Amino acid sequence: MSPIQQVVGAVTQYQTGAAALTRIQEAMRLPAEPAAAPAPLPSAGAQPASVAFTDVRFRYAEDLPYVHHGVTFSVPAQGMTAFVGPSGAGKTTVFSLVERFYDPESGSVTLDGRDLADWDLPRLRAAIGYVEQDAPVLSGSLRDNLVLGNPEADEDAVARVVKTTRLDGLVARLPDGLDTLVGHRGTRLSGGERQRVAIARALLRRPRLLLLDEATSQLDAVNEAALRDTVADVARTTTVLVVAHRLSTVTMADRIVVMDQGRVRAVGTHRELVAADPLYAELAATQFLATSG
Ligand code: ADP
Ligand code: MG
Repeated sequence: MSPIQQVVGAVTQYQTGAAALTRIQEAMRLPAEPAAAPAPLPSAGAQPASVAFTDVRFRYAEDLPYVHHGVTFSVPAQGMTAFVGPSGAGKTTVFSLVERFYDPESGSVTLDGRDLADWDLPRLRAAIGYVEQDAPVLSGSLRDNLVLGNPEADEDAVARVVKTTRLDGLVARLPDGLDTLVGHRGTRLSGGERQRVAIARALLRRPRLLLLDEATSQLDAVNEAALRDTVADVARTTTVLVVAHRLSTVTMADRIVVMDQGRVRAVGTHRELVAADPLYAELAATQFLATSG
């Protein structure tokens, strides 16, 4: 099942419950009061996960060319790791393998040092929040969209995650706040807002690992800053892997994995790679947007 199909399945499954929950929450709602201090992150408490690829070879089918030709890298249980490289390099495929949508043909992928094949699949998936490149906003209220992955999320958790993802400004502007209808039949959200909604939805599940495939579309300065601050916050308590399409994202990453044609070319910080890797320097000069997929 594709991630989209899973989300659609989840919508059907949770819609009834979410609507009932919304009504209960409505009845219990206290007067809104802007909090002074930054809200604690929803993922606080869950241990961040480590991830490692060892000599991973992978192709989508036997009659298709290899997408990964021996990919090796490791990410400690903390901070933010950015993946960059030209379109088709195999960045999104890294995420598909971490989610175990597919298995490598050879080599291994581990989470917390344990091969993914040895993980109970629902437990593995519960540990990971995956924000796809063009994460959909579905019909329904903004709140319905947020609690999609965790219908038990209470008002307090929703409020915190709204703050973490800098959606509070949007909520304040919307005519009915969190109850405003969004998507095709409601208020249209911008690309940056949609991605932050998707991050908020993922965070409400308290993931130990957040996979974020950054939107390629150009964002306005406000949305770009909001996304950058959100990811920086999340990376303090959750391991974050991001396929980066923006200079502002890579410059704050703890480490950058440069991929090209199914291989890892180099790993380092922005400063190190600009000096050491010509492909990276070129991507950085074009702000990553022009050539990244
Ligand atoms: P990137 O994210 O770096 O642009 P991808 O991991 O999306 O690269 O894709 C790497 C290669 O795998 C590309 O040649 C792409 O066409 C191919 N590919 C990606 N997804 C699929 C799929 N579901 N089926 C077949 N080929 C795919
Ligand atoms: Mg991609």
